[in-house]
Amino acid sequence: MSHNLLNPHLIKVARQARSMSQSQLAEKAGLTQAAISKFEAGLITPAEDAIGSLAEALSFPTSFFYQTDPIFGVPVSISYRKKSSQVKSRDIERIEAEMNLRLMHLRRLLSSVEYEPELTLPMLDIDEFDGNAERIAQLVRAHWRVPSGPIHNLTNLVERAGCIVFQCNFQSLGVDGLTLRPPGLPPCIFLNSEMPGDRQRFTLAHELGHAVMHNVPNPDMEDQANTFASELLMPRRERHSIFHSNVDLPLLASIKPIWKVSMGFSIMAAKNAGLITPSQNSYLWRRMSAMGYRKKEPSEVDIAPEKSSVVKDIIELHTDSLGYTYQDLYEYLKIKGDDFQSLYEISNEAKPKLKLVTN
Ligand SMILES: [Zn+2]
Repeated sequence: MSHNLLNPHLIKVARQARSMSQSQLAEKAGLTQAAISKFEAGLITPAEDAIGSLAEALSFPTSFFYQTDPIFGVPVSISYRKKSSQVKSRDIERIEAEMNLRLMHLRRLLSSVEYEPELTLPMLDIDEFDGNAERIAQLVRAHWRVPSGPIHNLTNLVERAGCIVFQCNFQSLGVDGLTLRPPGLPPCIFLNSEMPGDRQRFTLAHELGHAVMHNVPNPDMEDQANTFASELLMPRRERHSIFHSNVDLPLLASIKPIWKVSMGFSIMAAKNAGLITPSQNSYLWRRMSAMGYRKKEPSEVDIAPEKSSVVKDIIELHTDSLGYTYQDLYEYLKIKGDDFQSLYEISNEAKPKLKLVTN
C-alpha cells in the first residue's frame, strides 16, 4: 500500500474522536454532508483543499489521514457502567476512535523500542476448565508467583505480564473498560480513568480475565470475568481471616484500604464464600443504601487510582534516549500537541529545560 493514499477510515476516526456527526463536520469544514459521507465510504477522494478543511475542522494534521493502520471496532466484551442499551452510539464511537488512535500511536512507539515483558500472560481457555473462572484466577496468581494477600499494584503486575493498560478520558460515557488483542501488538486494556481507584482495579481484573480466558466470546463471559476478578483480588481461601469478626460497615471500611476493593465488593465476596447469611447480606446492603454508600463510598477510604506506566516509559525513552523533541513526537504520531498532552498527560512544560552554567 502506498503511503500517499488518503485512508477514508481515518476521516471517520477523526470525526468520531471529536464526537461530531457528519453534518456537524460538513458545516464546520464548509463542505456538504453528502461529500463527507462519500469521503468516509471511500467513494470519492477529497481534493487537497477539502483535505485541508477537514484537517482544520477536526484539528488533526493533514498527515494523519494518510496512515495505513487497520481500524478496529469495539470488542463484544465491553464493560458498561450504565445499561448497555442506555449508552449512546455517539459515545461508543468516541471510545472506538480513542481506542484506535492509541493503538496507532502504540504501533509507532513500539517500532523503535525493544519491548520484552518479564512475565508471560497465560492463555487459559475457559472451556478447558469447565467454566471454572475461579480456578483460572488461582492459576494466574500462581503463574505470576503472587504471594497470598492483596495485590499491591495490579496495574503494574498486569503491565509486567505484557498487557498495555491505557487510562482513557472516557468521562461519563458509561463505559468502564474494554480489552482488545490487536494482531501484532500486545493485549491492550482500556480503562475509564474517571472511576474511583477500587473500581478501576476491579475493571482491570475483569478485563484481564477476558484477556486470559476468552479467546472466543461466549454467553457467560461477563459472569466468568467477574468471578475471575473476585478471586484474583481476594482469594476465597483467605476470606475466612478477612471477615473474622462481625461483618458490619466499619469492618468493610477497614478492609478497603488493605485489599483496595470497594465495600460493596467485600459484601459480595463474604456472601459468595458463605461467610454471611442472606439476611446479613440484605441488612448490609440496606445500611449501604441508607448511608448513601451505594452511590459514593465514604471519602475517608477512597482508593487512589493506580497509574499505568509502560506507554509513558516508552514515550520518555523517545525523548530522553532517542533524542526526540515533543514536536518530533507530534509529527511522528501525526497528532496535535493538545491531543498528545491530554491522551498521555504529558506536558511539554513538565520538565524545565536545564542549561549548563558556564562561568
Ligand atoms: Zn467484560
